Amino acid sequence: MQKFSSLPNLENKRVFLRVDLNVPIKDKKVIDDYKIYKVIKTIEFLLRKKTVIIIATHLGKAKGRYNEDLSTEPIAKYLAKILDKKIKFIPEVIGNVTKKEIKSAKPGDIIFLENLRFKKGELDNDDKFAKELASLADIYINDALAVSHRKQASVAAIKKYLPSYSGLLLESELKAFERVLNPKKPLVVIMGGAKIKTKAPLIANLYKNSTRILLGGGLANSFLKYNKLEIGKSLCDEESAKIIKKMMKEKSYKQKIILPLDVVVLTKEGRVQAKDVKNVLKTDTIFDIGPATISAYSAYIKEAQTLIWNGPMGKFEDLDFRAGTIAIAILVASRSSGHAYGVVGGGETVAALRSIRMIEYVDFVSTAGGAMLSYLGGEEMPGL
Ligand code: ADP
Ligand code: MG
Repeated sequence: MQKFSSLPNLENKRVFLRVDLNVPIKDKKVIDDYKIYKVIKTIEFLLRKKTVIIIATHLGKAKGRYNEDLSTEPIAKYLAKILDKKIKFIPEVIGNVTKKEIKSAKPGDIIFLENLRFKKGELDNDDKFAKELASLADIYINDALAVSHRKQASVAAIKKYLPSYSGLLLESELKAFERVLNPKKPLVVIMGGAKIKTKAPLIANLYKNSTRILLGGGLANSFLKYNKLEIGKSLCDEESAKIIKKMMKEKSYKQKIILPLDVVVLTKEGRVQAKDVKNVLKTDTIFDIGPATISAYSAYIKEAQTLIWNGPMGKFEDLDFRAGTIAIAILVASRSSGHAYGVVGGGETVAALRSIRMIEYVDFVSTAGGAMLSYLGGEEMPGL
């Protein structure tokens, strides 16, 4: 894939722009426009260049057939409102209507396709389908890092059939990730959330360069359990033992991997209580990191020149267990607005940061979710 800056003269050309506008929708209305604003820069650039823009995205977990609830029409409407411009929504991905509309489109027109995942060919990375998509345009731009870890036609196979370029958003995300992979030290990694399996490669890949890796959430529970501590009925990934064992063989493990000192539990009587990790009972459920842990983690965070955070410290959706995640959010955001370079990613993590209106303080907030984990974890990226 070539750089955005090396795009040829686009006048009178047709550009196929793959974006990630997989946004939450309720009653056929977009209820969170964060991702839409993220790709606006690329779209506005193309508009100024007088091209025909064909915008395509996936939405939700469509299974290769039409599903009214997952139509991208509300997104097209919302984008039209933001841009204050007419957008032609086409109620199919490819077919005669699409071809006709594109044929009659004039420079500066925007055409918005139906959900790519309504087509099985998209999910199967099918060559024939990719070729058909490619036939709609002269140039391909990928601005959807969020799906670039997947082998799907609109990010992978399509590149065989069109000159391909990366979009502005995708390039800015990769630039931020490079700064994390070649960090100014100390690098402090903060990780939490649900499944260790998807996050372990990232820990393994960042391990060498990182000064500390602070753990919380279900991820920390798995480590505590491995250390033979009682975690009661807490969320824990049973498959994780092997991964943790391998990590523990590293010489600097004890110095680098930092576990909670205390946790907030829900007791069997229904009380919410902070406890030393040694005092958790069989009947307790861990739902947050405790105050001593917040204090210890804050000291590490203040040392950092580079910060990366993925995964909530607890079940922050519940008011009783919000403190740990919000404390980390405030610390990461305020440090990275000045002293350190900070990158935050992950669906729920970003939601936590947004809930306290501190998203703008962080140097880079990635909307790429799982793709960010794959990229930073050093995995293959078929879309790049
Ligand atoms: P992200 O999307 O930011 O990468 P994950 O998807 O890995 O994060 O995990 C987020 C979810 O993990 C949140 O919904 C949160 O409620 C849950 N979670 C975190 N810690 C715990 C815990 N100790 N017990 C139960 N759920 C937890
Ligand atoms: Mg998530």
